[in-house]
Amino acid sequence: MATPAQGIARLGFRIWYERQLIEGHVWFVTGFLCAVLIMALMEELNLRGPGPLSLSSLVIIVAASWLGIVAIRRYIRMLGRAESLAEQCVCPACACYGLIRVLEAGVAETDEHPQRMRVSCKRCDQQWHVESI
Ligand SMILES: [Zn+2]
Repeated sequence: MATPAQGIARLGFRIWYERQLIEGHVWFVTGFLCAVLIMALMEELNLRGPGPLSLSSLVIIVAASWLGIVAIRRYIRMLGRAESLAEQCVCPACACYGLIRVLEAGVAETDEHPQRMRVSCKRCDQQWHVESI
């Protein structure tokens, strides 16, 4: 998985941001569909009924719960990170939005750690730091 700095350097901020929103919403839809599946199976679940069907329903409910939680957490994290970077990607000198060049990026050991980047404006070459959450 690429860090935000790698993604922004490769695609440019605006395309990276757009892709983060698209991917984040795919995770949201995944979480929503898992919730619908869980509700549908809960309606059919009868633990006193025939064994194999109830057991398979229970296994699917547990798996869908796990996937749904992972998906919604990813959705929240991706949108939070994208919005946080978007707020910082306004040039302090000329106020243009999203036209940045990544000059230097700190090492992010995992995707969980914040990554500090030194960026410059593509229009006026003003430099500043942004930090992804
Ligand atoms: Zn500028």
